[in-house]
Amino acid sequence: MAVYDVQLSEMECGIRDQFRKYMENELKPLTEQLESQEILPFPFIKKMVADLGLAPDADWLEETGGVKRGNGSAGPADDEETRQIVAFAGNQLTIEISRINPGVCSSWGVSVGLCAGNIRKHGTPEQIQKYVPSLSRGDKIGCWCLTEPGAGSDAFASMRTTAKKDGDSYILNGSKTFITNGPYGELFLVYAKDADSGAIQAYIVEREWEGVSTGEPFHKMGMKSSPTGEVFFDDVKVPADNLLGLGVKDRDHVRKSLAGERLGIATISYALAEKAFEIALEYAKTREQGGQPISNYQLVQERLVRMYVDISNSRRIVYNKQHTGSVIDACAAKLYVAEVGSRVTQQAIHILGGYGYIAEYEVERLARDAKLLELGGGTTEIQILTIARHLLNENVGVQTFEMHRVS
Ligand SMILES: Cc1cc2nc3c(=O)[nH]c(=O)nc-3n(C[C@H](O)[C@H](O)[C@H](O)COP(=O)(O)OP(=O)(O)OC[C@H]3O[C@@H](n4cnc5c(N)ncnc54)[C@H](O)[C@@H]3O)c2cc1C
Repeated sequence: MAVYDVQLSEMECGIRDQFRKYMENELKPLTEQLESQEILPFPFIKKMVADLGLAPDADWLEETGGVKRGNGSAGPADDEETRQIVAFAGNQLTIEISRINPGVCSSWGVSVGLCAGNIRKHGTPEQIQKYVPSLSRGDKIGCWCLTEPGAGSDAFASMRTTAKKDGDSYILNGSKTFITNGPYGELFLVYAKDADSGAIQAYIVEREWEGVSTGEPFHKMGMKSSPTGEVFFDDVKVPADNLLGLGVKDRDHVRKSLAGERLGIATISYALAEKAFEIALEYAKTREQGGQPISNYQLVQERLVRMYVDISNSRRIVYNKQHTGSVIDACAAKLYVAEVGSRVTQQAIHILGGYGYIAEYEVERLARDAKLLELGGGTTEIQILTIARHLLNENVGVQTFEMHRVS
């Protein structure tokens, strides 16, 4: 039976099964302690990276400083086949972690994806060499700091955090909020406005530097396994060498980085929807009311069918190997699949009836986690506005459509 209508190769199935087994054995037993914040996700992330060999190029980075290849990326393997396998594995790992615990996936994704990933893509060889290996191995906890108390959806124009050039340094002042991993962060990739030119640039900031402080973890509705909080910068002296890429002058790399984050959020949303659907389907087949399984009732069947359609469409988006990485498609993916995440988890609660509403059952937690994915990385409204802007003003939508039509 073709479940969700996307076929995986034998090798891809092997990768999926390895990750799934690992998460069942190693992550699942930690869920209660992680959700009650008795333990933090970072020791697990470090162990996972080591056990699954997820930072194979960390030594290489340390040795070479990550000299970039023609396509701008840095890594020891550069043939297309390897690139495809690595991309599949990254996507599948996101799914397998999120099926068990989307919060752990957020913490891992921010530290390794957004923080280390951006340094690796845009940093100088010295910056890559100094910071990426420890982040990739999970030795250090990374944060990605864009949002401010007064600058959320309007993150760029309303940004108040400033960096003022002072000899060989920049003096950083301001605060960031809603920062994933913030309370325990050791390295912060901080976006700030140049006090003179107004250009928004990113600065790599170390926790130990004078003037850096963090707040207590927020009490949240969901994603409780992932700590979130404020980060403050009070006259922090940042060496000029720590300006990411020694000055990426335009906002293009932030937009690309947001596109990557949005695709990641779509993947997490898909995974939790898939898990909730599986739980609901199994429950519907075994729970009896009126002397028969509730799955015999057509009204229950309709819910299951609508969930299946949502997941099937999302799966084609999440597993799309031809993804252009364009901003418009990343926003479209995030908009659609994040709403599926919320919709499907709510439906799952409904199918489980009262049991779906009880904390002991997984679907209630997945539904709470799902809501964040409609907010973080740009709310639903911001995805809609960005897609509309691209369609109407920049003509990017038409180009993207042409590309998809040809392939
Ligand atoms: C758990 C969690 C983790 C996060 N992690 C990070 C992180 O690691 N790094 C980081 O930088 N940020 C992070 N964020 C921040 C997140 O990206 C922002 O919360 C999000 O972008 C929305 O900003 P805001 O909360 O200020 O809401 P606001 O921008 O104040 O929006 C409030 C409401 O107004 C609507 N709205 C705003 N502007 C418009 C408009 N122009 N048109 C129509 N409607 C509009 C929004 O859609 C929303 O419904 C995180 C947030 C949370 C909750």
